[in-house]
Amino acid sequence: MKIQGKFYRIVWFRNDLRVHDNPALFHAAEDQQGVLAVYFICRDMLQNHCVAPARIDFIRRHLLLLKSDLAALNIPLLVINLDSALEIIPHFQQLIKTHHIEELFFNAEYPWDEFNRDKQVSEALRTDAVKVKRFHDRVIIPPGMIRNGKDEPYKVFTAFKNNWLKQARVLQLQPLKKPKRQPEQPIVVMSDKALNDLFKGLDLRDLSALWPAGEKEASSRLKQFIKQHIADYHVDRDFPDLEGTSQLSPYLAIGSISPRQCIAAALQANQGELDSGNPGVTTWIGELIWRDFYQHVVVDFPYVCKFKAMQKHTEAFPWRYDHTLFKAWCDGETGIPIVDAAMLQLKKTGWMHNRLRMVVAMFLTKNLQIDWRMGERYFMSELIDGDFAANNGGWQWSASTGTDAAPYFRIFNPVSQSQRFDVEGAFIKTYLPALAKVPSKVIHNPPPTPGYPLPIVNLSLSRKETIALFSALKP
Ligand code: FAD
Repeated sequence: MKIQGKFYRIVWFRNDLRVHDNPALFHAAEDQQGVLAVYFICRDMLQNHCVAPARIDFIRRHLLLLKSDLAALNIPLLVINLDSALEIIPHFQQLIKTHHIEELFFNAEYPWDEFNRDKQVSEALRTDAVKVKRFHDRVIIPPGMIRNGKDEPYKVFTAFKNNWLKQARVLQLQPLKKPKRQPEQPIVVMSDKALNDLFKGLDLRDLSALWPAGEKEASSRLKQFIKQHIADYHVDRDFPDLEGTSQLSPYLAIGSISPRQCIAAALQANQGELDSGNPGVTTWIGELIWRDFYQHVVVDFPYVCKFKAMQKHTEAFPWRYDHTLFKAWCDGETGIPIVDAAMLQLKKTGWMHNRLRMVVAMFLTKNLQIDWRMGERYFMSELIDGDFAANNGGWQWSASTGTDAAPYFRIFNPVSQSQRFDVEGAFIKTYLPALAKVPSKVIHNPPPTPGYPLPIVNLSLSRKETIALFSALKP
């Protein structure tokens, strides 16, 4: 697409596909000297990071809406298709030369590959005398600001959270105003067809019926959650058959809503209180702090981005690589109903309830003793909300290798989790029709039933074996 017009700055969009409360866009637009927006589809990064087809299609659908929202501000969105992220620098150099652009603005991404990509682009453009400005957007409190008395990062969530709350009380947490409209000039807007064509050859999965795209959808979900569910969140959030959680994770991961917009809405519902008042609201704020925590972890302990265990001594655990057992787990055929129903929820909807993510991750690592990294990659390849920091943090927590790791001897029993949190078996029955007629009392650990597999592992023996193997590791 040929871009015409006068532009002073480029805003490089990535996982921040919105116009509201977007720091890079807001600041670039402030003095109204002309802004060009750019998005690169980097096929190598999508492949290397196992990005789920559902998520790639979610990106496509978001870009279609973003281009209209930006056009209303007189900002053209240029989407460029690349085989490799290495081609980003020459593309920027070409745009900068053609349009006499002086500044590049973007919001920081913290995982190692993204951080290095941004560093290389920034260094190359600075030598071409372009000013590069990086903003913090993905988190509520930027990495580096939450430190203990020795100026070290926290490895434990509760201490991080207490310090986070202390700082948040004095920080300005309000979202930014709408970005300013740019000078009138004829701009060319990419057609929907041209944009869709750029995604040709990529594996796409259309889940638009479940997960409509866009900022409007994200903010109406937030409003609905605050109005109807947040007050009971502390109780309902553990029950997968209830609509007890916000289901905002896909939107937060792709950036069609910001964590500041979420926290502002929660504060408004709680008379401005962060950690007192309604327990539903404070528990939900606690989850947004977990989200910040894991983003800080990838900055402070970048070796986790190389798939290394956070607690180095746990690298010696003799993980198994049994592909038959792993496939049974992926396909929801383990013979443990809650695990199978959860894995089918992931396959069918691109999303899984948080309690079930912990249950299936513990089952894979502690009962099947399969390397958490295999589970982590599989999750990324299916999740519409796949986010490296949250996913790695969740997997390492479940495998007892990470920050704040669940103590290795405290292993969820999937059957008792199912009895507690899916009491009547309603969630199980939604995904496992073969068990539809099994009485609630026994559905969590059913008798042999036609069409449903027998358990692939002995839960209590495997649990004991895992505890013994962990206790033999020397910290
Ligand atoms: P809500 O309960 O409404 O919480 C609000 C928001 O807080 C979420 O949207 C999410 O952004 C954040 N959040 C909530 N819980 C956590 C948590 N434990 N860690 C970090 N952030 C949290 N979350 C992802 O966004 N992407 C992932 O790839 C991901 N992988 C996970 C893998 C495992 C093994 C585990 C145990 C957890 C993982 N999580 C991940 C965290 C959590 O399961 C999801 O964020 C949550 O289920 C999303 O549902 P919700 O939007 O309804 O959350």
